[in-house]
Order: sequence, then C-alpha cells, then structure tokens
Amino acid sequence: MQLAFNDITTDLIQLPGIKDIGVFVLRLDKLHPVVSGNKWFKLRYYLADAAEQKKKRIVTFGGAWSNHIVATAAASKMYGFASAGIIRGEEPLSWSHTLLQAKEYGMELYFISREEYQHKKIPAGLLTDDNYYINEGGSGEKGVEGASSILDHTSKNFTHYCCAAGTGTMMAGLINAMLPGQKVTGISVMKNNFELEEQVRCLSKSTSREWNIIHDYHFGGYAKYKPDLFQFMNGFYRQTGVPSDFVYTGKLFFGVSDLLKNRFFPAGSRLLLIHSGGLQGNASLEKGTLIF
Ligand SMILES: *Cc1c(COP(=O)(O)O)cnc(C)c1O
Repeated sequence: MQLAFNDITTDLIQLPGIKDIGVFVLRLDKLHPVVSGNKWFKLRYYLADAAEQKKKRIVTFGGAWSNHIVATAAASKMYGFASAGIIRGEEPLSWSHTLLQAKEYGMELYFISREEYQHKKIPAGLLTDDNYYINEGGSGEKGVEGASSILDHTSKNFTHYCCAAGTGTMMAGLINAMLPGQKVTGISVMKNNFELEEQVRCLSKSTSREWNIIHDYHFGGYAKYKPDLFQFMNGFYRQTGVPSDFVYTGKLFFGVSDLLKNRFFPAGSRLLLIHSGGLQGNASLEKGTLIF
C-alpha cells in the first residue's frame, strides 16, 4: 500500500456565474482511497512519535463511521504498528463498511458504551505499556502540525483557504501555515457547535481576525443530510468532475458555492478549497444516491 503524493493536484474549477474569482480545489482525496484527505496529515507526526518511542500498538477512538478509525488502521499497518480502535456504542448487529475495512487492515475493535466512551475508558484487555494513544480525529498539537504540512503540496498563491471543520484541527493547521494577508474560512459540519471557535483558537494559538467559521451549512447536524445536499453534490460533480462526501466536503462545496453567490469573497480573490477526502463514508448511502 502506497500513498500517492504525486497525485495530489490543485484543480481550477468553473462554477456557474462566478467569473471574477478563481476557485481551486486541492485534491487530497487522491492520496489514497482509504487514508484519504486530511487524516494521514493529522496522523503523520503521531506515528513518527510512536516509532521514536518504540511503541508497538496505536490505540485510538471513534464512531462506527469514522474516517479517522479506518485511516488510522491503514496508516498503522503501513508503518508496521498493530492497531486498536475503541468504538463508541454497543457493537452493531451488522458492522459498517468502515469497521469492516478497519478490521481488514488488522485493527482490533473494542465496542464500549457511550458513557464509558465519554470517560475514555480503555478496555482491560488493551492495557499495556506498548500502546501509543491518539485522540479521536487526531486532534491535538501533533495533529495541527501535520495539518499545516498540507499546504506543502500546493502553491501559496491564494487569498483564501476554505475547509470543512469537525474538530477544527485541520483548520488550525491551515491558520498556522498561511502567509500574512491570507484568510481561512471554515465550514462547520456540526449544528450549533459554537465551541469550535474557541477550539480553533486554542489549537492554532491564533487570536488574529484572519479566520472565521460559518455555521449555516450543517444540513441538520453531523452526518445528517437532506435530499438537496445530494442534488448539489451530483451537480457539483457534473460541473467540475470533483466527487465529494456527504459528511464534510459536500457541505464545504455547498457552503462555499453559496458564499460565492452572496459575494462573500471580494472580486479578484483566489480561493483554495481543501478536498479533505472522506469519500469512503459515501458507502453508507443507498446505491444510486450519488452518480460517482
Ligand atoms: C475528519 C475530516 C474533516 C474534519 O477535520 P477536523 O480536523 O476534525 O476539523 C474534514 N474532512 C474530512 C473528509 C474528514 O474526514
């Protein structure tokens, strides 16, 4: 298994009615079908640290559909670590596509109740000195540092970066990596997650006004959707050839398209939209929902 860094391109896209703004997409989704997008970047310095500490097993946390779980499983295998995933909630009768794939990459899966999960309870069978623990979503200092290195894969010739924001780790990394005068706009994928601003402020240690978070494009909440999101994602694919996922990048592209329509970005701007991957999550949708 290899990561295709050379396949990461910066694609100019044409959106209907947008003439005086350049819109580009950084295709991190092309890195790998499973370890796609931002997750490898957020994991890389944790894995390096685990190797340095001579740890044997990577242990992390997530939900049954978590891109982070499956990315950690694949990346751990790639780097020669064992891995274990602590999954929120009782074991489902039939495992999600994500969990099956994580298992295929050799991850041991432990299901714990939501309450135990909140307290980050480590199952007894897992407690050894050889473990290296990574937070849910790879959030934390090394995750931010890794996310900053995303911008090494493109030019710096943009006025604005736009990304989807879950934990805000990727966004914090972009804020730290941007040049003076550049701006970052995050599209929150959760409903009314107004702690996100504080989180991004803490993670990036940035108090500047050069970034903002928009809370209007969550479609009802995390991993929630409405038919018009799929309609948009299909239309966006037809127009640009760029596929998206319904949890993160579909909402990002929808939000940015709407902001462009409302003239949120000044004429002459050059936008870089971060395609942070996540396409594996679309496997949970009914076949035929998406045309890609
Ligand atoms: C995890 C994820 C995000 C969110 O990243 P955060 O650093 O948690 O904000 C965005 N896009 C995709 C595809 C993801 O899998």
